[in-house]
Amino acid sequence: MSTGSYWLEGRQPRSPSLKGDHQADVVLIGAGVAGASAALALADSGVSTVWLEAGTVSIGASGRNAGFVLQGTCERYSRAAAIMGHERARAVHTLSRQNHQAMVEAIDRFGIDCGYQRRGSLQLAESPSEERDLTESAALLNADGFVAQELSGDQLPAWCAEAGFRHGVFLPDDGELDPAAFVSGVADAAVAGGVRLFERSPVLEVSAPEAGDAYVRTPDGSVRASLVLACTNAWAGELFPWFRDLVSPVRGQMLATAAVPPLFHCPVYADHGFDYWRQDRHGVIVLGGWRNLDPHAEVGIEDRLHPEIQDSMTAFIHRFSALRGVEITHRWAGTMGFSRDGQPIVGSVPGSPGALAAVGFTGHGFGFAWLCGRALVELANHGQSEVATLFSSRRLIV
Ligand SMILES: Cc1cc2nc3c(=O)[nH]c(=O)nc-3n(C[C@H](O)[C@H](O)[C@H](O)COP(=O)(O)OP(=O)(O)OC[C@H]3O[C@@H](n4cnc5c(N)ncnc54)[C@H](O)[C@@H]3O)c2cc1C
Repeated sequence: MSTGSYWLEGRQPRSPSLKGDHQADVVLIGAGVAGASAALALADSGVSTVWLEAGTVSIGASGRNAGFVLQGTCERYSRAAAIMGHERARAVHTLSRQNHQAMVEAIDRFGIDCGYQRRGSLQLAESPSEERDLTESAALLNADGFVAQELSGDQLPAWCAEAGFRHGVFLPDDGELDPAAFVSGVADAAVAGGVRLFERSPVLEVSAPEAGDAYVRTPDGSVRASLVLACTNAWAGELFPWFRDLVSPVRGQMLATAAVPPLFHCPVYADHGFDYWRQDRHGVIVLGGWRNLDPHAEVGIEDRLHPEIQDSMTAFIHRFSALRGVEITHRWAGTMGFSRDGQPIVGSVPGSPGALAAVGFTGHGFGFAWLCGRALVELANHGQSEVATLFSSRRLIV
């Protein structure tokens, strides 16, 4: 059994590490989905860019997740409306759907082989109160012009009965993909477009004291640029102290099984999104979550396994008669960046006028980060971006 991510198996570094002193218009930090999106937009704009990644492309959460491309935040829609206000919830939800569409355009544009499918997603209730939540959310989604179909009893897939699920909501527009293959495909396109990528090049120090003046240092090199773009999500507070209280590293556990005949026909989300699983194009089931079993331990940036949570995940898999005794081939962990209010933070970094950041995706980066990474480049090129206005850091300044 491997303790690395199923998606990262066999992926090798594609570029050297940074050595010596370099100059560029922009220095971009972080090669996850947000950084890859920014890199591509920079390549498309013809901006001279050095792109630095501490590990390798998609080594962070972007190569360790479940590969769901969902609409909305990690809160169910009705709860999101209660927390952030109905109009804002609708705007945020709409943006995540646009984010999905923009990712599809990138997949088509570059022919990225990432197993993308749009089979919808299924949200399942674990309790009567969650059933009421799902019903309320579905009603509000439909009232706002989104599509949500309530399902119960025999309308649900046959395996639901075995696992004790009686009620769910199907969202037909959601998708899924191999997240590392997607990010790698975009990174290749950005590099082909002229971006200079350096892997195994952790930024140790950033200085961005005024607009037009930025400097970063790695163990063996440095870059002087006009602007720093930070796409470092869970690590945001390490380079910019301002993010320390706003973006918290939170760990998630995952496992993958040997390939099995088709059972799950779309991504599934249960227990308020704490538990999630899907079956990929090869028949492999990837399953993650159960973080609520020990939320206080599952914090910090160490990608370590949590044996009890992993055991619970295995026990759940073995609940299905078709999966009894199925081999677990991979177990791994990854780190998400949870923002204080559960929404991304995009745009200026208070105290660092020469820097912009897109961070805090709170477990739903594939629902938002593509447009947020691109928004940084819109801000840099044009001084404004609707996405950055929606997710401006100003809302968090008290
Ligand atoms: C177990 C798990 C399951 C998830 N499931 C889903 C899902 O199904 N759907 C979904 O939408 N989201 C999911 N997420 C969340 C999603 O993976 C993230 O929101 C998304 O990948 C964030 O992308 P990012 O580019 O902002 O960050 P990351 O992918 O984490 O990239 C940040 C990069 O910055 C680099 N970096 C950090 N500091 C430095 C530095 N000083 N110098 C250089 N480089 C640096 C890191 O090495 C890393 O590669 C899940 C996350 C986890 C952990």
